[in-house]
Amino acid sequence: MKAPICEVCLKTEDILCPADEKKLQDGVISELDVKISRMLYKLLGDADVEFKKAVEAGDLVVIMVGEGNVPLVIGKGGKNIKLLMRELGKRVRVIEGLEIKGTDEIKKLATDLLYPASVFGVNVVYAPSGQYYKVLVIRRDQQKLPARHETLEDILSKIVGSDVKISFI
Ligand SMILES: [Zn+2]
Repeated sequence: MKAPICEVCLKTEDILCPADEKKLQDGVISELDVKISRMLYKLLGDADVEFKKAVEAGDLVVIMVGEGNVPLVIGKGGKNIKLLMRELGKRVRVIEGLEIKGTDEIKKLATDLLYPASVFGVNVVYAPSGQYYKVLVIRRDQQKLPARHETLEDILSKIVGSDVKISFI
């Protein structure tokens, strides 16, 4: 398994090697990334899977993995997800992580994250307070959002690294 911490750190608990400890102190990785890395390693071992990073907001944890890795991480019948949810005490969603370059990637990210609600598009909004992204969701799908509107905005903003708002059309 490929993770943001090294193989030695995947297999240990509590302490990190100096290199990974520095990544944590510098904010390159978070406590949550370390925790999820170790939990996934216990579940997946040496499987050909990449864990990229995790973000949380409200009662939701979003785990970002490599291309095509989602089914393996979820596990048969969702067994891995169920274990993670029990240990974390939160809801868990697994999506493909991708490098955000602009609205195309934000649209793909929002489509995966907000499913089964449909994403119509993503706009860039230029406001006096700065630029933000507006994810447009079909109004009739409002009830299909997988978590609270604010929680999802928070998660999207953390992943994108700038403000993201959800708007219904
Ligand atoms: Zn390490």
